[in-house]
Amino acid sequence: MRLALGALTVLENAKILTLQPILFQNPRFLPSREYPDVLVPFLVCTAVIMISAFLITTVKISLRVRARELLRVSQELEASNAKLNALHAMVKEMALKTDLQELMDAAVRSAAKIMGVKACSIKLLEDDQNSLRFASTYGLSEDYLSKGTIDIRKSPINRKIIQGSRYVIGQIDAKDYFAYPEDIRKEGIASMLCLPLRVEKKIFGIFCVYSREPYQLGEADVDFFSLMTDFSALAIENLRSELTKSWFMMKAAHQLRAPLGAIYSMLKMVTDGYLGVINAKQEETIRRCQKRIEMLGNLIKDLLRLGEKRSEAAKPVLYPVSLNKVMMPLVDLYQTQALEHGLEIKFDIQDNIPPILANNRLIDDLFTNLISNAIKYTPRGGRVDVTLAGEGPGWVRFEVSDTGIGIAAEDKSRLFTEFFRTENAKKLVEEGTGLGLVIVKEILERLGGTIQVQSKIGSGSQFTCRLPSPS
Ligand code: ADP
Repeated sequence: MRLALGALTVLENAKILTLQPILFQNPRFLPSREYPDVLVPFLVCTAVIMISAFLITTVKISLRVRARELLRVSQELEASNAKLNALHAMVKEMALKTDLQELMDAAVRSAAKIMGVKACSIKLLEDDQNSLRFASTYGLSEDYLSKGTIDIRKSPINRKIIQGSRYVIGQIDAKDYFAYPEDIRKEGIASMLCLPLRVEKKIFGIFCVYSREPYQLGEADVDFFSLMTDFSALAIENLRSELTKSWFMMKAAHQLRAPLGAIYSMLKMVTDGYLGVINAKQEETIRRCQKRIEMLGNLIKDLLRLGEKRSEAAKPVLYPVSLNKVMMPLVDLYQTQALEHGLEIKFDIQDNIPPILANNRLIDDLFTNLISNAIKYTPRGGRVDVTLAGEGPGWVRFEVSDTGIGIAAEDKSRLFTEFFRTENAKKLVEEGTGLGLVIVKEILERLGGTIQVQSKIGSGSQFTCRLPSPS
C-alpha cells in the first residue's frame, strides 16, 4: 500500500496524474462533464495499482530467492565447518602415529569419509622413481589392487601427477583416460580426483579419491582435498625421515663399532707390554686414549639401543614379565658398583609382584638406566634407594632416589631429549651420552607407563615410574 501511494505521488509530481477528489467525479456531481475526463485518471490509477502490485510481488519473489540463497550459503558453511572439524580430527590422529603404515591407513580411511566417496588410495614412488605401488587403500577390491606396481612410463595420468598436475576426472567413461577402463568400471568408479603428495619441491606419491557418482567432485572439493593431501604428505614425509634417521643412526653406529674395537685391542696390546716396554708418560697417554674410546663405545651402544627400540616400536613383542626376576641379578651388580663409588645403596623390593605385560630387555634397560644414573650422579658418601612395589590395583611403582648433585628446575623439561646433559653432570662425570633417559622415556611410552622427576640441585633426585599391571 505504501508503495502504491508512493507511486501515485511520483506520478502526480511528474504531472502525469492530476489527483482530484473522487467525490466530485461522481456522475451525480458532474452534470455537464464529458465521460473521458473521468476515465483517464481511473485508468492511470488502475495502472499504478497494478504496477505497485507487480513491484510488491517482484520484491517478495526476490526476498524469497534471497532467503533461499541465504539458507544455501548457511548450509554450505555448515558443511564446510563439519569438513574442517573432520580434517582437524584427521590431522590430530595422524600426528599421534609412529608407524608409517598405520599413518597412511588412517589418512585414506579419513579422506574417504570426509570427502563422502567410495574409496581412497595412497600410491608411493618406488626407489627407481619409475613405478608406483599402492601403499595404502580404502574401499578398493583385492582384484583391483592385484596388478601390483604401476609403471609410470606407461601411465600418462600417473606420470603427469608425479610431475605436479592435479587430476580430476568427472566422468571416467567420457574419454579414453585409461588403458583398461573396464577394470575401473567393474570397481564401480565413475569419477576420481588425484593429487601429488608433495613436500616443498619433492613429489613422492599420489593421493586419490574415487567416487561412484560421475561429476561428484567440484572445484571446492578439489581445494579441500588439496589441503588434506598437503597435511598427509607432511605427516608421511616426517615419519619417513624419522625412520630413515634411526635406520641411518643404527647403520652408522654398527659401522663405527668394529674399528673402535680394533683400536682398543691394539692399545691394550701396547699397555700390556706385548709390543715392548713403554715409559710412564707413554702409558698415561695411551690410557687416556683408551678412556676416550670407551666413551665412544658407550655412545655407540646407546645409539644402537635407541635405534633398536625405535625400529622395534613398529612391532612390539610383549609378554608377561616378572619384575622380581629381572631385578634379582641387578641387586648384586649395583651393590658392587655402589661400593666401588663409595656409596650406600638399598633395595626395597616387594615379593611376588604380579607380572606385567612387557619384555625382559625393555625392563632391564629401564632399571639399569635409572639406577646407574643415580650411582653416577651421586658423589662419594651419598646414598641411593631403589623401590619396586605394587601400587593400588593395576599399577607397579619403580622408584630410584639419590642424594646426588640434583637437577636445576629449568633443565627438567629437557632431560628426556636426545644428547642433553646438565652442566653440573658434565663437571662431575665426563663420560655420558645424554641418551639413557631418552631410552627410558621411549620404553615407558611403549609400555603405557609414566615417569615423574623430583629434584633439587645439590640435594638429590627422585625418578618415579609407574607401569600398568593387568591384575
Ligand atoms: P647420560 O647419563 O649418559 O648423560 P642420560 O640420558 O641418562 O644421559 O641423562 C641425561 C642427563 O640427565 C644427565 O647427563 C644428567 O645431566 C641428568 N641426570 C640424569 N639422572 C640424574 C640423576 N640421578 N641426578 C642428576 N642428574 C641426572
